[in-house]
Amino acid sequence: MSQSAKQLAEFGKQHISRGISRSTNLVIERAKGSYLYDVQGKKYLDFSSGIGVTSLGHCHPKVVKAVQEQAAKLNHAQVNIVFHKPMLDLIGKLKPVMPSTQFDSFFFWNSGAEAVEAAIKLARHATKKQNLIVFQGGYHGRTVGTMSLTTSKTIYRGRFGPLMPGVHVAPFPYCFTCPVHRAVPQKHNIINCCDNPIEQVELLLKQQTTPDETAAVIVETILGEGGYVPPPKSFFPKLREICTKNNILLIVDEVQCGFGRTGKMFAIEHFGITPDILVMAKAIASGFPLSCIVSNKELMDTQPPGSMGGTYSGNAVSCAAALATLEVFEEEKILENVNNRSSQLFSLLNSRVKSLLPPHIGLDIRGLGLMVGLEFTGVPPGFAAAVAKAGVENHDIILLTTGIYETLRLIPPLTVTADEINDGVERLSQAIDMALKKLEKDGNI
Ligand code: PMP
Repeated sequence: MSQSAKQLAEFGKQHISRGISRSTNLVIERAKGSYLYDVQGKKYLDFSSGIGVTSLGHCHPKVVKAVQEQAAKLNHAQVNIVFHKPMLDLIGKLKPVMPSTQFDSFFFWNSGAEAVEAAIKLARHATKKQNLIVFQGGYHGRTVGTMSLTTSKTIYRGRFGPLMPGVHVAPFPYCFTCPVHRAVPQKHNIINCCDNPIEQVELLLKQQTTPDETAAVIVETILGEGGYVPPPKSFFPKLREICTKNNILLIVDEVQCGFGRTGKMFAIEHFGITPDILVMAKAIASGFPLSCIVSNKELMDTQPPGSMGGTYSGNAVSCAAALATLEVFEEEKILENVNNRSSQLFSLLNSRVKSLLPPHIGLDIRGLGLMVGLEFTGVPPGFAAAVAKAGVENHDIILLTTGIYETLRLIPPLTVTADEINDGVERLSQAIDMALKKLEKDGNI
């Protein structure tokens, strides 16, 4: 007897830990390209891409074929017993797309958090120092180690302590909702405002954690869970300079923003610097569990043999999916599509969406490539979530919120078409309109 979507959702609520927060109650059965289909065959335009995982769209035929073939050939080979071919092929394909030729030593895990943990271990062991500097609003995972680096929301760490000691937090240059200039909002756009985080890192090194005890600075190139915030151009060159001067490693976490999402293969390429360790995951294998850290060989080889890895590290099927993903990037000129669709999206958001808002509601449209944040001001708390809810319930589009302010994030697949962008903005506009009408009805505007 087939169960209704409602019954299945109830079953899920009953038996899946409530520690997972789910933004919809959809029960999805299959997906293709930019669309998800629920158990009743209803179609949803997916502007979430599983938070940037299914970047080539769902079930890209080339990835599916590679996975099917690999699954029939070799599922698993334990990496601390043998080398396996899919991993070696993948490294061969990854090396040329790295942002610098100095990235020539790789290792793989299953999830982003595991890779971040590995980067911390690598930095600590190599430098023989312990402390870490992270940035306000950063998200690096939910394991015991990574939650200690995560400051995007208290829910990820509150009452799960004690947290890992030796973590110091500097502000991220979140210029739109800048805590430094909150008191004088008219100064929001002054250039020097963005230097404050750099000054704060320097102060941390003078007042809280000496360079002699600081192993690494770890930072997302673009804040993801913290609000989809790209830093100003000057931020990374200055941060790189501080790290180099003080013999501190710079780790960039590109779990969410890497792999073409911003229109370049890695987001750090927009900022003209080379970090010491790059962390990637999510989009790397188009939906299969794989994460990776890369550094130069000299640094990576400071690790004692046996200290890295785990049972499923660099699973053969996931590596085959990642290899196929990189081939699709070349064959389908994915980066070109990201840049074209990005210009289209920004221009539509600026015209269509801005024109919907009454004068007292502000909107910051920001981001790079197809990693786009829309932050509303002058709205009551919960407005962005209300838009996302109206999106899924009334306009068949999956939208996500991010951060602690009223921000929506748009993460369409990197393969999204011009028509799908037009359609997505239309549905988004209708969802915003609906949320605005509700505010009006409730007397909130
Ligand atoms: N770092 C960043 C920047 C992320 O966005 C995420 C996941 N949202 C993680 C790390 C953790 O990755 P995972 O959920 O695969 O452990």
